[in-house]
Amino acid sequence: MTICAASPLPLCRPKRLPDEWTETYLFRVARANGIPRPRLSDIERFRPMLPVTASSKSDGYPVWSDTPLPRWSVVTRVNKIWYCPACMVESRHIRSRWRLTVFEVCTLHQIRLKDNLAERVMTRGYKQDGKYFVTDVSDEQLWEGAVCPMPGEREHVERMWSGFEQLVVQGDPSGAFEHLVYVLFLEALLDAIAYATPESDLLPIDAPRSTRLAGLAAKYQFTVAPDSNCIGDFLRQITAPHIAMQRLHDYAACCLMKPRGPHAFRVYRFRICEGAS
Ligand SMILES: [Zn+2]
Repeated sequence: MTICAASPLPLCRPKRLPDEWTETYLFRVARANGIPRPRLSDIERFRPMLPVTASSKSDGYPVWSDTPLPRWSVVTRVNKIWYCPACMVESRHIRSRWRLTVFEVCTLHQIRLKDNLAERVMTRGYKQDGKYFVTDVSDEQLWEGAVCPMPGEREHVERMWSGFEQLVVQGDPSGAFEHLVYVLFLEALLDAIAYATPESDLLPIDAPRSTRLAGLAAKYQFTVAPDSNCIGDFLRQITAPHIAMQRLHDYAACCLMKPRGPHAFRVYRFRICEGAS
């Protein structure tokens, strides 16, 4: 242990890299300070010491603003570490945006995120076969089984996510957060429509969620554009005579008139289910 006892700061303070996830950054800080296999208690000891992590919490939710994101859109730190192999080869750090549950394809490289990385003692199941540690993984292992989506899904994902990802990469967290709100709204609406759509009209259930939603958007010819007009524009496109579609429209319109925050989506997703059953 090489921390200077007289200083409130750790002796070595590696620079936090662009969009680096707080939790794996803290592991990196611990290793830089002579702890080759950090424990969670080490991480929590370092957290309040560093200005860039002092306001973070141990749940590990990604943060781009003072406003917390809805729980359905983020994962805690024990969940799998998703990553883009091309981004990881360029710079070996875990990005905060990969902790969003509905972010499935990197729009910088058009590669589907993989999930076989782990951080010792933090990631659930880190001892399982097939897991690689963030600090040890080779380029070849990062690329194992990497997949690019088909062109239709690529276009859909590009429209949904590239604006947000570009703002993150450009170092504009507040702009990225503002954009992300619209993306999450559209993702939630598409999820709700998929839930209310007969399985026979969707791609197979074992297809990735992003693939199924891209297929759904193509089938109904939805135009998705995450901006300040996106909600009204999207609702005007929902014209199918299916009763669940009408219910979705009504509930979403209700949410718009009486905003109750992002959690409202969860509420009407369940109500749609009730109405469709
Ligand atoms: Zn990438």
